[in-house]
Amino acid sequence: AITMVDPEGALVSIDPTMPTNSPNLFSVRRNTSMTPEPFKQTPFTYLCRAFRINELKTEVTNRLAMLEKRVELEGLKVVEIEKCKNDLKKLRDEMTSRGGGRSMIQIRDVPSYPKYTLSQETIEALKKPTFDVWHWEHNEMLSCLEYMYHDLGLVKEFNMNPITLKRWLLGIQENYRSNPFHNFRHCFCVSQMMYGMINLCNLPEKMTLTDMGILMTAAVCHDLDHPGYNNTYQINARTELAVRYNDISPLENHHCAVAFQILSLPECNIFANVELEAYKQIRQAIITLILATDMARHGEILDSFKHKVDSFDFTNEEHVTCLKMVLIKCCDISNEVRPTEVAEPWVDCLLEEYFMQSDREKTEGLPVAPFMDRDKVTKPTAQIGFIKFVLIPMFETVMKLFPQIEEIMVQPLRDSRDHYEELKQIDDAMTEVGHLFSLNITLSFRVGVNSILNSRQLRK
Ligand SMILES: [Zn+2]
Repeated sequence: AITMVDPEGALVSIDPTMPTNSPNLFSVRRNTSMTPEPFKQTPFTYLCRAFRINELKTEVTNRLAMLEKRVELEGLKVVEIEKCKNDLKKLRDEMTSRGGGRSMIQIRDVPSYPKYTLSQETIEALKKPTFDVWHWEHNEMLSCLEYMYHDLGLVKEFNMNPITLKRWLLGIQENYRSNPFHNFRHCFCVSQMMYGMINLCNLPEKMTLTDMGILMTAAVCHDLDHPGYNNTYQINARTELAVRYNDISPLENHHCAVAFQILSLPECNIFANVELEAYKQIRQAIITLILATDMARHGEILDSFKHKVDSFDFTNEEHVTCLKMVLIKCCDISNEVRPTEVAEPWVDCLLEEYFMQSDREKTEGLPVAPFMDRDKVTKPTAQIGFIKFVLIPMFETVMKLFPQIEEIMVQPLRDSRDHYEELKQIDDAMTEVGHLFSLNITLSFRVGVNSILNSRQLRK
């Protein structure tokens, strides 16, 4: 073993980077008491050089081998990635050609959401329009919906497998898109309001449990796979949906079709144990209710109900169907029945979705509805007309049949109308101040210019 030291006695490591030999370099043999001798040109120099070259050679060879291996591996990875990409593309193309874009049903494997034990407080609150719908995660909303089906006796009535119910709800949630407004939370809101109205109006005493099942299921499914652009856009842009449904409520037809695609999966079919004839009726009724949510049919449906309400007959099937249509319509647009702090964020969500559409319409050269145009609409103007001319008249008609909704549902609507009218007054006042301010500047500018002109004329 040879140890090399410099004249100061510090160790010099023997490696390819060590300085070339010099007379000042000493060598010391390990574990001897020999005094260091000056290192002269000895065979050691050559030894060192040879050693260095050999070491370099081995290192380079090793490195080369390593690099070659890496290149080979990376190359494989690239091939792998390319293959994955191709597979993905193929799969996507297949999905598109098979189901027209997104209509392929996505279902999670197993009902994996944990069972939430709803507190007594939540259970009570769930029956009321004051329920804070923003407070809950998706899984919690799923548990609430599950609870409603059990509580209303629907699981028992339709002999549902409780696991199938869970799986169906998961399938529903997966097939709502994350739009600003038409998303799973909106589905939950509408369903929760339906559950609230069923309780508030004591509907199980007046109608059948099948009717309750139809009302709840239609509410849960009513906006499935909503793309975030309304029927007008679908028709004007001649989308696949508009073509498929011949411009007749393309969205509502689609929501309904997706609903029955989900139900056609045996593992998600909550009506699997229902007799064939009964199922046919349930299916027909759900279709009728979901199609009734097209606002283009609002006048027609409400008029039909107005004709029946004064002599309403719960044993008349036509009457009951019409009531169910009005009920789902009420729930669908019931945000303003909720407390302001719950309702108001929904207005922003809806406007966001509207603006997304109108911006797209502008770039695609399609007609833009003024109520969707970010340059024309404001929150209060958007709200006042809708509350005054759509919501209040509809809920007041339902109130004729169920007077108990006045305090709990109609009064909040009137309060909401007043709230937005106040907001509009503030808006108007601000605009007026703005106008006055700019007018004032213009006036003072004119006065200034005139006085300068006058003085010049005087000087002349
Ligand atoms: Zn809706």
